[in-house]
Amino acid sequence: MKISRFKKLHKTLTFFATNFEYREPYQILVDATFCQAALQNKVIIEDQLKKYFQTNMKLLTTQCIILEAESLGAPLAGATTIVKNFHVHKCGHEGVPVPASKCIKAMTKSSRYIIASQDRTLQASLRKVPGRSLLYLHKATPVLEEPSDASKKYVFKKSQSILTNVEEKRIASLKQKGGLSEEENCKKLPKKRKGPKNPNPLSCKKSKKQKGQTQNMKHQPKMQGQMKSKRKRIKIPEHVKAALKGSK
Ligand SMILES: [Zn+2]
Repeated sequence: MKISRFKKLHKTLTFFATNFEYREPYQILVDATFCQAALQNKVIIEDQLKKYFQTNMKLLTTQCIILEAESLGAPLAGATTIVKNFHVHKCGHEGVPVPASKCIKAMTKSSRYIIASQDRTLQASLRKVPGRSLLYLHKATPVLEEPSDASKKYVFKKSQSILTNVEEKRIASLKQKGGLSEEENCKKLPKKRKGPKNPNPLSCKKSKKQKGQTQNMKHQPKMQGQMKSKRKRIKIPEHVKAALKGSK
């Protein structure tokens, strides 16, 4: 199988697994129309689907599907033989069979089945329901249909409502922590003040240093002495310096 085909399949399976709880082994509900198409295209369903899915899966059918195929007689004799080979899943219509399409629709309500069918009316009907997964044969090639618009819309709306809930909770918690949010604003302001590169906060700097020095005084009196002496040297006026040089 081509890589792009496998990627598409994997993407679709992941979509249904993530959003609609489809799980391995994937249950594939096969009807007689699918078996008929397989027969016409000389496809052995089980082999072909194993190659396609490359993962655990179960092929199933129902009593209603088999009975409907049998009732159609000779034209579907081959397909009936094939469909009878699959595991017959209980559908709840035992003793009171319903048309295959009706049975399949009922089955998809209670559990996660990938519906393998060529029945266009059934496909169209299932596409309208979010979370329904369709498999069909394109000539001899099985194709797991991409999620329908209904499925995509459902998932989108669900994600939107989750987002809204998260946002509402976040806003509520922010309102509760009103004090905190103000503090955050206060923290931001000094950062803005630090921004300008040429302020003239010399007085502030001095006061900070003085504070630092007084702290140093307590713990490191020797250092303090050194600092003072350095400062004295810096503050020597120019004319004094000149005089000193002259004297040398
Ligand atoms: Zn049934």
